[in-house]
Amino acid sequence: MVNTTEWSQLQGWLKTKVSDDDFNSWFAPLKLAEEPAPEPNQTTVLVPTRFMRDWILQHYNDLIEEGLQLVTERPLSVSYLVKSQVEQRQQMVAQQKTETATSAPQAEIAPEQQPAQTAPKAPNTGIVTAGTALDPRFTFDNYVVGKSNEFAYQAAQRIAESDDAAYNPFFLYGGVGLGKTHLMHAIAWYIKDNFPERKVLYISSEKFLYHFVRALKDRDIMSFKDTFRSVDVLMIDDVQFIAGKDATQEEFFHTFNALIDMRKQVILTADKSPHELSGIEDRLRSRLGWGLATEIHTPSMETRLAILQKKAEQLGLTLENNVAMFLADRIQSNVRELEGALNRLAAHANLVQRPVTIESAQDLLRDLFRVYDRVVTLEDIQKKVAEFYKIKVADMHSSGRSRKIARPRQIAMWLSKTLTTKSFPEIGRSFGGRDHTTVMHAVKTIDKLTKDDPSIREDVDLLQNMLQGR
Ligand code: ADP
Ligand code: MG
Repeated sequence: MVNTTEWSQLQGWLKTKVSDDDFNSWFAPLKLAEEPAPEPNQTTVLVPTRFMRDWILQHYNDLIEEGLQLVTERPLSVSYLVKSQVEQRQQMVAQQKTETATSAPQAEIAPEQQPAQTAPKAPNTGIVTAGTALDPRFTFDNYVVGKSNEFAYQAAQRIAESDDAAYNPFFLYGGVGLGKTHLMHAIAWYIKDNFPERKVLYISSEKFLYHFVRALKDRDIMSFKDTFRSVDVLMIDDVQFIAGKDATQEEFFHTFNALIDMRKQVILTADKSPHELSGIEDRLRSRLGWGLATEIHTPSMETRLAILQKKAEQLGLTLENNVAMFLADRIQSNVRELEGALNRLAAHANLVQRPVTIESAQDLLRDLFRVYDRVVTLEDIQKKVAEFYKIKVADMHSSGRSRKIARPRQIAMWLSKTLTTKSFPEIGRSFGGRDHTTVMHAVKTIDKLTKDDPSIREDVDLLQNMLQGR
């Protein structure tokens, strides 16, 4: 047996051994069983799902036993007991109920009750077609698995196969073009093929926002709610765009809670972990991290090569190894760009009926590589823009709103988005901790101004050329 002190020591030790994400995914949900184990030198650990148990046995059992030995100074073996999250949650809810019962007047934060007459069937609101079409190429079969994404891939497969909402929500995050949408569609395809009776709704968060705003306008929130709550699996892509939108966030939160309470599977993607998403309420953030959050990392050289070979095959393109190496070396952080480059080469090879060489690739992809060649930093941009408009670099970070500094600041943000691979939140942070929505707004404003105002266009062009050293 292990006592609770030893257990928390073990957890503390594990924390130092694995990344935060791994710890949160695999170890934080573990609980020490209260019942004594059958053998004295054994201890029983509760795991929420079978998949987790298998995974832990396969990958972490040695680590856990090593830790236990260290902490307890006696040899112990561990057995894992699957105790579903539902049971654990039922216990939690029961506990909470008794707690709220004693601390009376405070309103109970119960999941929203659905009026009986509207609950049962999906009303015909037209929103059922709100889902975005699934891309037929985005299947599990077409997904190349490597170290960077095998966790996410396996978890996604598990989610697709199971109908007991074992990880709820499933939260998939990572940088642009790394295959989040691909995996999400793959889950949807799998369910469509294997469980045709299950209702899957895939929607981008922009569309979710759009339908929400429209429902508000039409005073038709009831059917909006019903539509989203009538599905078995709800997938919302890029939820970072819901951040900062308070009313939508609120509605999303309720929909989300309702679905989770009904044990419907919710699947979300974002560019950041729930923990790092900015502009969302704490209670939503903590619930987002409640299920399984998995990161897709930048693919290794090896995986990039495998992706290239697979895509080349699909395009009917003969890709020499040296050319593949060259591409995988030049384009490292975005599979979408890698794919785009390959498409371009394939189109050209097809046209000239000659195989691609490193020289022709270099030539055809010159513009793409240029972006990679000159690494422009956010500091470079802020400095150059401040100099250009004769303001202080500090004004880039300050909260001042006068036109004299606000416009250059917006231009600097626009340049940051255009010339670097930084995300909106990252840019916001380096401009005095501004919200990502401010950066998005700046980018939109300058986009428009460069069309409407020739003098701004000229400034922006000039700055861009200076920064890129052309
Ligand atoms: P994200 O949603 O993360 O921005 P996507 O899912 O849209 O990225 O992926 C971008 C492109 O890269 C898609 O065409 C997708 O098929 C491809 N892709 C990304 N990762 C992989 C992978 N591991 N194997 C095959 N194709 C991939
Ligand atoms: Mg995507």
